Amino acid sequence: ISLFCTPIETLVNSTEMFQKALAGFKRMDEVLQTAPDVQDKPGATELRVEEGAIEYRDVCFSYDDCELGDDGQNRVRPVIDHMNLSIRPGETIALVGPSGGGKSTTCSLLPRFYDVQSGSITIDGQDVRDVTQESLRRAIGIVQQDVYLFDGTIRDNISYGRPSASDEDIAAAAQQSNILEFIESLPEGFDTVVGERGSRLSGGQKQRIAIARVFLKNPAILILDEATSALDNESEEAVQESLERLAANRTTIIIAHRLSTIKDADEIATVERGQVVERGTHEELLARGGTYARYYRMQFEGVRAARTE
Ligand code: ATP
Repeated sequence: ISLFCTPIETLVNSTEMFQKALAGFKRMDEVLQTAPDVQDKPGATELRVEEGAIEYRDVCFSYDDCELGDDGQNRVRPVIDHMNLSIRPGETIALVGPSGGGKSTTCSLLPRFYDVQSGSITIDGQDVRDVTQESLRRAIGIVQQDVYLFDGTIRDNISYGRPSASDEDIAAAAQQSNILEFIESLPEGFDTVVGERGSRLSGGQKQRIAIARVFLKNPAILILDEATSALDNESEEAVQESLERLAANRTTIIIAHRLSTIKDADEIATVERGQVVERGTHEELLARGGTYARYYRMQFEGVRAARTE
């Protein structure tokens, strides 16, 4: 099947793709049941990304509608609770914190998978609610732990985000994501069919194809939902290296689960109960002896304990 027949179809397909991408943040069926209809407002303009500065200002959000108690107070605790977060152009910031603290939700609000209930999120000063979703989503690349590949060729899977891309561009993207050599070693090269959901490829290969897709899309802003799935060491290194290359010169938010990527980030923000409770470099936060330092020690000691077992 040809996925790219007309521009309209491309748009529809990329929306569908985006919803599939969203499934990596939360399970697909959950998302489809709960996703509110986010729409372009009349006269929405194109997002113009000049630098890629991101600003969350006093943002509140909850998945449930508000529910007033007898005292007139809202009983639904917001998942994002008056969050403030500025991210400088080109910066890589890692979000860490307890499970359920709001890291994924923070990221879901940027491409408008959901709309904030109060406060605002801007990109280079433009409120994400004022721009077309198409231009917003074009500006944001997402790499997730659960990679979605469709049953087509490797070429189709890489060029998904930019159907007009030339073979040279596709090969360059594959090279940047450390997968070109592997593809060229296959008898059918870029014409190799990946199988249902990429079943003929290893986890690391799928991930690098997904990364190549984002290289080709070339967005100014990147959201990385860090892979926790077990890749073997060599594969993990190749993925890690291509992710670092991808993040260079883009404003990047990492939903971090592991120490290695956290330490490479320019800054770390600890998200707890929907708020950024501390923020700084790895060294600054360690010296501060707060939540991050505790979290780091816990993981570090966990890793050491596992190694000595
Ligand atoms: P983790 O590290 O476990 O991924 P997190 O810090 O990313 O956690 P979120 O996934 O943003 O946290 O979750 C914040 C809160 O919102 C949790 O209480 C979670 O149960 C709830 N939540 C997340 N997604 C949904 C959803 N689609 N519908 C309803 N509640 C949700």
